[in-house]
Amino acid sequence: MSRYWRWCLATTLTAVVSLACLWTQDSGTTSLNVGSNLLAANNAERWYRGNLHTHSLWSDGDEYLEMIAVWYRDHQYDFLCFTDHNLLQRTERWIDVEKSAGKRLAYDKLRTRFPEDWIEERMREGRLEVKLKTFAQVTQRIADPGKYLLIQGEEITDKFQKKPIHINATNLQEPLPPLGGGSVYEIMQNNTNAVIAQRERTGQPILVHLNHPNFGWGITGEELAKVRGENFFEVYNGHPGVDNKGDAIHASTERIWDIILAKRLTELDLPLMYGIATDDGHSYHQIPSRKSEPGRGWVMVLASELTPASLIENLENGRFYASSGVTLQRVVSDEKGLSIDIAGEPDVEYTVEFIGTRSGFDPASTPVLDKDGNELNVTRRYSEDIGRVFAKSTGTAASYQFTGDELYVRARITSTKLHPNPSAVGDFEQAWVQPALGPAAKKSQ
Ligand SMILES: [Zn+2]
Ligand SMILES: [Zn+2]
Repeated sequence: MSRYWRWCLATTLTAVVSLACLWTQDSGTTSLNVGSNLLAANNAERWYRGNLHTHSLWSDGDEYLEMIAVWYRDHQYDFLCFTDHNLLQRTERWIDVEKSAGKRLAYDKLRTRFPEDWIEERMREGRLEVKLKTFAQVTQRIADPGKYLLIQGEEITDKFQKKPIHINATNLQEPLPPLGGGSVYEIMQNNTNAVIAQRERTGQPILVHLNHPNFGWGITGEELAKVRGENFFEVYNGHPGVDNKGDAIHASTERIWDIILAKRLTELDLPLMYGIATDDGHSYHQIPSRKSEPGRGWVMVLASELTPASLIENLENGRFYASSGVTLQRVVSDEKGLSIDIAGEPDVEYTVEFIGTRSGFDPASTPVLDKDGNELNVTRRYSEDIGRVFAKSTGTAASYQFTGDELYVRARITSTKLHPNPSAVGDFEQAWVQPALGPAAKKSQ
């Protein structure tokens, strides 16, 4: 097909899909399962790049909020959500420069970047202190309406016994304390419910997403699958300590994703789980190094405007993909299947894998045992029917046509280009396309 006809077809499809979306909104449906999605920049919408997981000197990061905002703006990001542990950056907070995580180096860099009358500092008992800027101050100074958006958020940082359970809330309006609970599942559900309650009370859209399921081997696929109102998780987190790939005992985040999708679309009657990529950056002064640094993973959201409401609405409608380096031009999912166009780079090759689960899959599972035969509290082992690679090809375009029994299909694109500053050494740049409901799932709904 010529470029012109492709363009004509794209424009027409965009109009049709936009109308369908409008209809969905008007009917008041908040379903996350959009049946048909055309994701491509057009006159009304464009791709926005953002990171939804960020730490600063307000909690355990080593950089000032305003310097982080500048870093992301200078690295071609359109939006950034600050998510320090269990707080919003809006109180009065002084830090001791030398004792802070960034020490003198962070302060000197701050002084160089903001030499004029911006920094508030004082001497206390002979020690230099700096007053941390609030989210509102940093937003006023650095955000640029329509061009660069800063979003308020929190990493609700909870634990069950020794298992970390961290949930991010994007566009949070009031701080939420971790609520605890009697199990990993209950803690996830309690904290999710608190976010949803605030969303309903304030009328502001707030996105909830489960962070790094494999960090500290905190969360199993079976537990996360059951959580109501929690439909996003980090398939990729840039922190080198979060074990995205799992190990001999623990399932990878992608394996967890497929288990969740298969369970949700059959026995649990819950919506799709979407996979996002984030940085979870804490360290900003030695880039690149093996510390948790910015620039490793992000989301690309197709939206009509750069506002929290527009971004969250489109995220919740699956109108985005996750990336650790690969850029997509277009993603189409409809009743026929799923197709992808990659914005290829010279001398780089791309492998596209369409991954899914068919109805009638074997749902049986077995526990993972330790060397003494005791059951381990980790994601169970399932048949290879779950998360099977349906098709694999190379090139900058690929499509998968449904055969009729797919519950869902998602896509993973892996490039031959090594990630310049990876989460795990040896990672190639990748992108993750969100799961599309297949004909077998639609039949049962
Ligand atoms: Zn965390
Ligand atoms: Zn974090």
